[in-house]
Amino acid sequence: MTKIGDSENNITTMKALVFHGANNLALEDRPKPKIIHATDAIVRIATTTICGTDLHILKGDVPTITAGRILGHEGVGMIEEIGTNVSGFHKGDKVLISLITSCGGCSFCKKGMYSHCRNGGWLLGNSIDGTQAEYVRIPFADTGLYLLPPDVDDEAVVMLSCILPTGLECGTMNGQVKPGDIVAIVGAGPVGLAVLLTAQLYSPAGIVMIDLDDNRLEIARLFGATQVVNSSDGKAAERVMALTQSAGVDVAIEAVGLSATFNICQAIIAPGGHIANVGVHGKSVELHLERLWASNITLTTRLVDAGTTPLLLKMVQSGRLDAKKLVSHRFELSEIMKAYDTFANAAKEHALKVVIRNTNVNGRNLKENS
Ligand SMILES: [Zn+2]
Ligand SMILES: [Zn+2]
Repeated sequence: MTKIGDSENNITTMKALVFHGANNLALEDRPKPKIIHATDAIVRIATTTICGTDLHILKGDVPTITAGRILGHEGVGMIEEIGTNVSGFHKGDKVLISLITSCGGCSFCKKGMYSHCRNGGWLLGNSIDGTQAEYVRIPFADTGLYLLPPDVDDEAVVMLSCILPTGLECGTMNGQVKPGDIVAIVGAGPVGLAVLLTAQLYSPAGIVMIDLDDNRLEIARLFGATQVVNSSDGKAAERVMALTQSAGVDVAIEAVGLSATFNICQAIIAPGGHIANVGVHGKSVELHLERLWASNITLTTRLVDAGTTPLLLKMVQSGRLDAKKLVSHRFELSEIMKAYDTFANAAKEHALKVVIRNTNVNGRNLKENS
């Protein structure tokens, strides 16, 4: 157990959220991570959050994750220790952790496809221990971390670890949203809302948000959706076609990961349009080429590379992008099981992103130390 008053170097254990198989999580004591490679850094987590992907893991949908893994791939914290080959950071720096680990030198990194890095990719909370803990080891720290000003708002910036780059790159940019477009976003969860926020940067003429949950649709309206469609009666596609005078939409973004939601995108796409898939699909879908073969459409898939993180950071810091409004609930690390319950019952709890603070890291307030 960590004792209050221990010097940092004497701390050997920490609290961490550990996956023990489907529907089995526990907050427990684990050894504090150590530097393994000279390019590593150890980061003391101040703020983390739970991703929709973590819920997929919890259900047992992500077979790469073995029992005993510390979950989480999002976080803001402070550098506690750096390896001898880390050149861009110092002990005490406040940093944003990217979900993507990239070596910077392999053939995929050279092409900007960091998510497919031969030595990295999505590792945190997947094949290595993640950020839902007091400390985390970050491989290739020079490329996986971003320096933050000490006074930056953790809650806004932690939205840049995963969901905002995902919304921007996989949704808005892959969908090639442009001025005057009509955009439909299927799924008003946190990632769908991140698409909604970033799509507006490209001045579409209208954004139709589609979801089963009226509360989320109401939030989507507040976030800038021009029209909302509740899809619970199975007639979302018909309604979108009516809204567009049967023309369909220029961009249809799938942010759920189900066959039914992908089908809505296929049914509403206008000739020449772009379907951008963002959702994590666990099952195959039917591609309706019998209708789409002559429609000049483009269908894209992508894993987030997080190459847009620096530009998103600038936009959050300048106030152009209000990332903090994605946060609906706040918990301490000691309450992380409750945070998972809240996030897993998002419709009932009216939850968007749930933020987990580590204000009393080892009995000390991180801000007092910064
Ligand atoms: Zn994520
Ligand atoms: Zn690489």
